[in-house]
Amino acid sequence: MPEFQQTLGKVAGFTGTALHTGEKVTLKLHPAPVDHGIKFRRKDLQDEPTIDAKIENLKTVERATTIGEGSVRVHTVEHVLAALWAMGVDNAIVEMDTNEPPIGDGSAQPYVDLIKKAGVTAQEEPRKFFDVRDTIHVESKTGALLVLLPDNQFRISCTQAGPNNKFTQFFSMEVTPAAFEREIAPARTFVYYEDVEPLMDKNLIKGGSLENAIVVRGEAVLSKEPMRFPDEFVRHKILDIIGDLALVRRRIRGHVVAVKPGHAANAELARSIAREQTRRSTLAVSRAIPIGDSGLDTGEVMKILPHRYPFLMVDRVIGFEGENKITAIKSITINEPFFQGHFPGHPVMPGVMQVEAMAQVASILLFKLTKTSSRVGYFMSADEVKFRKPVFPGDTIFIHAELTRARGNRMAKTKCYCVVNDAVVSEAELMFTFLDK
Ligand SMILES: [Zn+2]
Repeated sequence: MPEFQQTLGKVAGFTGTALHTGEKVTLKLHPAPVDHGIKFRRKDLQDEPTIDAKIENLKTVERATTIGEGSVRVHTVEHVLAALWAMGVDNAIVEMDTNEPPIGDGSAQPYVDLIKKAGVTAQEEPRKFFDVRDTIHVESKTGALLVLLPDNQFRISCTQAGPNNKFTQFFSMEVTPAAFEREIAPARTFVYYEDVEPLMDKNLIKGGSLENAIVVRGEAVLSKEPMRFPDEFVRHKILDIIGDLALVRRRIRGHVVAVKPGHAANAELARSIAREQTRRSTLAVSRAIPIGDSGLDTGEVMKILPHRYPFLMVDRVIGFEGENKITAIKSITINEPFFQGHFPGHPVMPGVMQVEAMAQVASILLFKLTKTSSRVGYFMSADEVKFRKPVFPGDTIFIHAELTRARGNRMAKTKCYCVVNDAVVSEAELMFTFLDK
C-alpha cells in the first residue's frame, strides 16, 4: 500500500512577531498541488516571489536557517518546516508579508495548531522516499556528529550537551505526526545568555524575549513559564533536525543519530542526502524502451558478443550516452537454467550472473570505443562488488556501464550497475585488458 502525498485542506493563518525585526507578520498556509513541495511566498514584495524549500536554496545557517532565490530571502524557516513535514504535509505554500515567520512561543506548537485548523488531506500521487542504503555521516569542527543509518521508519536519536557538558540530555523517537505533536512540537528554542547578549546589544533580535525562548545563564534557566519537559532542550534539537532535513524534499526512511547537532551540521547532512539522491536519479532510467537506431537488438548484440544462450546476459542495448555510457536490459524469467539449482523452491538470480551481465554490457561499450574486431577485451578484475537486493523471476534488469578510465588501447576500467525498479540491486568496478586476437 503506497503512502500518498498530502496537502492542507484549506487556507489558515495567524499573526505574530518576527524574531529578528520585531515587526508584525501574518503567515498563511495554502494548499498546493502534488509534487509542488513546500514553497515560501513573500507577499510584501513586488510580484510576490516564491522560494523553494530545498537544500540547494540554503543560504546561511547562523542560529537559524535562511533560504533564498536571487536576492529574495526568508529567515528562520526551520520551525514551520518541521511542523509541516512532521505533520505529514508534503505540498504547501507558506505565505508571509515579511522575511520571517512569527516566532510564536519559540516552539512549533503554533504551526501544529494552524495545520490542524487547516486540516491535512491525501492527494493522488504516491510520496517520494529516500531509503538509506549505506551509512551517511557528517561531522563538524564544533563537535556536532550526525549519522544516518538504514531503517524502515524515520527515527531520530539525539544527544544534546551544553557548555562543559551541562544539561546533557538524550531523546529517541520514531517521527510520526502523533509523536511529533505530543513530544516535540511544544519544545521551545533555548539560547545561551553569552550568545544573545551581543545580538541584543546590536539590536539584532528585536522580537526576542523570555516569551519565545528559554535563556540559559550559567546554571540558571530563565523562562516565562516553567520547563515543558525536563529534557526540553534535546527535544528542540530534534525539532530543528526535522525542519532542516525537510529541505531534502523526500520522506527519509532511516535513523538519524545526532550528537550536539546544529543547523550547520543538519544542513550538511541534508546536502549529503541530496547528493546521494542525485547520484541515484542519474542511474534510474525511463522504463520505456525506445525502438530505433540508438540501441542494438539481440541480433546486433550477438554480432559483438560471442556468448550464446544460456550464457548471453543481454537482451538488448537501449542506448548509448556519449562515448562513455551504455544502458542495456535483460529480462529474467523462471526459465533461466540457473533457477533450477539456485535455489529449488526459492529462485533468486546468482550474484555472479549479474556480474557477468555487467561485464558483457561493458564489453559492448568497449567494442564500440575501440571500433576494431582485431583486438579482444578480457575481463581482468572485479572490485567493489556489492549485491544490494535479490533479483527474482519476472524482474527486468537495466544494466548500466560507464567507462571511468582508459589507458590507450591496453586497459579500461568501468563502473557498472544493475537496476531493478529504480533501485540498484548490484554494482561493480570491472577492469578489462585488450589483447590481439
Ligand atoms: Zn529551533
